[in-house]
Amino acid sequence: MTEEKTDQTETPYEYSFEYIQKKLEGKKDSFGMLMKEIVRTGICTQCGTCAAVCPVLEWDDLAGQPKLIGKCTGCGICYNQCPRTITDPYQLMGDFKTGYVANTNIPEVIGGQDGGTVTSILCYLFDEHLIDAAVVTMKDPNNPWRPVAQIITSKDDAIKSSGSIYSHSQTVEALMDAVRQDFRSIAFVGTPCNIDAVSKMFDSPTGMLKYFMRCHVLKIGLFCMDSFAPEAIYPFFEKEGIDLSKVQKMDINKGKFHLYYDPQGEPFKSYTIRQLDKFKSSSCNFCTDLTAENADISVGSVGSGANKNTVFARTGIGAEIIEDAAEKDYLKIEPFNTINLNAVLFLAKLKKVSQYTIQKRKVFIVRDSEETEEPRIETKPEVEQPGVTPTLGARKFLSVSKDLNEKDKLLNISLTNTIGYVLEDLKIRIVTIEELFEKSPWITTIRELFPFETIEIGYPLDIPVGEPIKANILVEASTESFGKIFSRTLKIAPKE
Ligand SMILES: Cc1cc2nc3c(=O)[nH]c(=O)nc-3n(C[C@H](O)[C@H](O)[C@H](O)COP(=O)(O)OP(=O)(O)OC[C@H]3O[C@@H](n4cnc5c(N)ncnc54)[C@H](O)[C@@H]3O)c2cc1C
Ligand code: SF4
Ligand code: SF4
Ligand code: SF4
Repeated sequence: MTEEKTDQTETPYEYSFEYIQKKLEGKKDSFGMLMKEIVRTGICTQCGTCAAVCPVLEWDDLAGQPKLIGKCTGCGICYNQCPRTITDPYQLMGDFKTGYVANTNIPEVIGGQDGGTVTSILCYLFDEHLIDAAVVTMKDPNNPWRPVAQIITSKDDAIKSSGSIYSHSQTVEALMDAVRQDFRSIAFVGTPCNIDAVSKMFDSPTGMLKYFMRCHVLKIGLFCMDSFAPEAIYPFFEKEGIDLSKVQKMDINKGKFHLYYDPQGEPFKSYTIRQLDKFKSSSCNFCTDLTAENADISVGSVGSGANKNTVFARTGIGAEIIEDAAEKDYLKIEPFNTINLNAVLFLAKLKKVSQYTIQKRKVFIVRDSEETEEPRIETKPEVEQPGVTPTLGARKFLSVSKDLNEKDKLLNISLTNTIGYVLEDLKIRIVTIEELFEKSPWITTIRELFPFETIEIGYPLDIPVGEPIKANILVEASTESFGKIFSRTLKIAPKE
């Protein structure tokens, strides 16, 4: 549909467009994010709302996607109208009574993970005899940095339990042990998934704790973006020469995983989360709760400065505990408006939408050519003629990227289906072009390439030893139904 959009100038419509644009100023939502999170992940419902609200977007019938026809200001209006995006603060962070920036006021607790708020709340609860036990997670003394869930009954043990271990901990098992040992009032510290387990055990009609009315549990939830499998990440650290028994603190901050020998000093080693992604627990890819939405009190670091915590009191009792702990000098608190809420919302959104990418499958082709053909004279790529309406076959079905592995003389080519339906019997042909001739043809047929799915092909470059890695590689793709849908020559040159 390429009809001209009606001129919207000087209309009440334009007034509301500008009004919302101002409201969204400074937010990071944009058309690019709409395409990345909603369209290219295949969860777009094709409702057309994005195109309907924006003067520079139109609906592309053939691709089944919105398409830019003018200059995008990045205002984010399209993103914020889309029924598939999650933008409402309560959808992102859950319900809460009030929030604080907090940190400890207890000298022995300084050196907690962030502001030491969780430990300080536990100290307050023990001193005030509001709990008779707490469930926390500590390091296994015999196996460095392995988490062990523990029942503790004193303030001293609460102080010893401070600090984060970025791995799953079987906290609910310890909680059930505490219940069996007849502890009646228990503070439970856990990640959002741990908190969900306890909430379900209380709320579900068949929940184990629902009918055990002698037990009260205060749920203290930790913000959580992801955790890592100890069986995978610790051997990696050890291979990197890190002595885990000497590491005093691990911390995730602004997309980086830091390791410290001195918790008050600078990290001795840092990795980007992307570098460690393969060690992430698979469950965390399916998780959408950053801020422990079902806790009484949620505590994290994002949104508050260094050595401080962002705290949400979600229930009446949660708010009373925080206020009284501050009143009795266990905690220093600052009001809700000191939280950098945009930072929390941004991270919460990343987590909510991460689920959209999990269904994407990657196909790796490692074997050699499946079909053979005689080398032939170069086929010139199809060229779109200016002014000629593109045929279906010339439309953009695939996006292609390359990555050169110079050591193994391998060109890794990724082809992604960029339309919302399956490409069937996709024939891919890769050849090296030398002057006018083709050599080393590599052909394969993919029976089905699902929407937004990627195929990775390792194409071996036929370059004699000692010669510079330089080549022109023609990549072509066609299907039975649409004919040739892609053709481009990739130029390979040695890195400068
Ligand atoms: C796996 C994981 C991922 C996290 N990701 C983020 C994040 O992305 N963004 C963010 O803002 N905050 C995150 N946090 C929370 C952050 O690390 C701090 O726990 C939080 O800010 C509280 O700080 P504090 O100084 O009050 O903690 P402290 O006073 O030091 O107390 C920490 C408490 O956490 C408990 N604990 C430690 N490890 C675990 C565990 N694996 N499971 C259950 N309980 C544990 C300890 O027993 C202790 O009671 C994460 C925490 C964990 C465990
Ligand atoms: S101008 Fe605003 S509404 Fe239009 S595409 Fe760009 S971000 Fe979306
Ligand atoms: S508003 Fe969202 S769901 Fe609707 S067509 Fe646009 S991207 Fe798709
Ligand atoms: S990301 Fe989710 S599943 Fe993973 S540890 Fe955190 S709360 Fe649990």
